Amino acid sequence: MTFRLYPNKQIDQSLRYHRKLHKDLYNAAVYNRFTQYQKFKHSVSYMEQQNSLPAFKEVWTEYREINSQALQATLKRVDFSFERWFKGLGKRPRFKSIRHYSGWTYPAKTGYSVESDGENGYLNLSKIGRIQMRGKAKYWGTPTTCTIVYRNGKWYASITVEVLDQALKPKILPIGAAGIDLGCKSALSITNGESHKQIDAPKFLRNAEHQIKKASKEKRRKQAPNRKKKIKASRRWKKAQAKVSKLTSKVRNQRQNWVHQVAAEIVSSNSFVASEKLEVKNMTGKAKKSKRKKQKAGLNKSILDVGFGMLRSTIKYKIEQIGGVFIEVPTKQVKPSQTCPKCGHQDKKTLDIRVHECTVCGYVQDRDIAAAEVMLYWAKGTLPGFGTSLVDGDVTSSTSRTRKKAGSMKQLGQMKRQKSESTGAVVETRSSTK
Ligand SMILES: [Zn+2]
Repeated sequence: MTFRLYPNKQIDQSLRYHRKLHKDLYNAAVYNRFTQYQKFKHSVSYMEQQNSLPAFKEVWTEYREINSQALQATLKRVDFSFERWFKGLGKRPRFKSIRHYSGWTYPAKTGYSVESDGENGYLNLSKIGRIQMRGKAKYWGTPTTCTIVYRNGKWYASITVEVLDQALKPKILPIGAAGIDLGCKSALSITNGESHKQIDAPKFLRNAEHQIKKASKEKRRKQAPNRKKKIKASRRWKKAQAKVSKLTSKVRNQRQNWVHQVAAEIVSSNSFVASEKLEVKNMTGKAKKSKRKKQKAGLNKSILDVGFGMLRSTIKYKIEQIGGVFIEVPTKQVKPSQTCPKCGHQDKKTLDIRVHECTVCGYVQDRDIAAAEVMLYWAKGTLPGFGTSLVDGDVTSSTSRTRKKAGSMKQLGQMKRQKSESTGAVVETRSSTK
């Protein structure tokens, strides 16, 4: 849980001073590791560095007033970046300038205390002072760790808490069951079989893409810094940069708020949710395109797409936390957008057809709501005519797996039986022991 901090001038100075000391310690530890290796071929371990902290404080007396566990946490950061480098996961650790040094961590319950019930309050940092903080936590408990972060000219405290299990679990599970279609039309459709609801993505989220693009374009027109050519950033570039990062963090926050709000609403009345299966990206084949193209595709992933992905995983997480059931519907087999929820008849719909109109039973419904209904009924095992039409559909499909399986009539018969017996749903429940 992150709170924004509002330090007064004196405390702000003190926070900056502490950040600088942690940065210097970080750089000293990096330097120590490199020189020890260069001179003596000796790989310095985390424990060695931790054990030398008292001696270090003898010389650098200003470190005496800093919480020693926080100092250890900074050494851990160094250790972590070396580990990553050794494993080939990260770049060679570098000395950090103060601009690229975010802050420090209190890894245990010492060095700070929190006066809050989860909404706003005060943070006490030893040797620094009492700081007003604003923010609201979803869950609250005993603070366990606290990380101080300086970003875009603002201070934040990221606090983790121990939450009692009972606090998360409602005494009585909500009885509702819902099917959810996360739409291509920037809205999500929820149904319980009787009533339906569609929620639009907030307008800001829909416009954010455009705004950020515009701001980045402005930035590209200004003189960017270049370390190799020793070109400093122009004042205008800095200004444009600040604008871009302000916008992106605003969008990030708004997206997060929206996701949590929508997910919480769904989980407050349902403990059984069916939605499309999370797609795992195919890492072979298509990924072989040029790296540049791939990166570009990643960057261009729409803010809304990311939001819908987050929404789906947040709903899943919250449902599991209360001990409910989240069912992932294999859309390739079930084809929610092409199946009639009332009679199970399948008819291909192109993307521009927004209304489901069954040619067999005459059921008329919004396309996305119909898809949500199909997923709900399928998960409950009440989708009519499901068995045969599904297997027929599957055999004629061209996925290599089915072709392999559908070798002989005997195999085909076996498959048919399996399919109609169990629907192959991925049911994931997890006891919430966190
Ligand atoms: Zn029908």
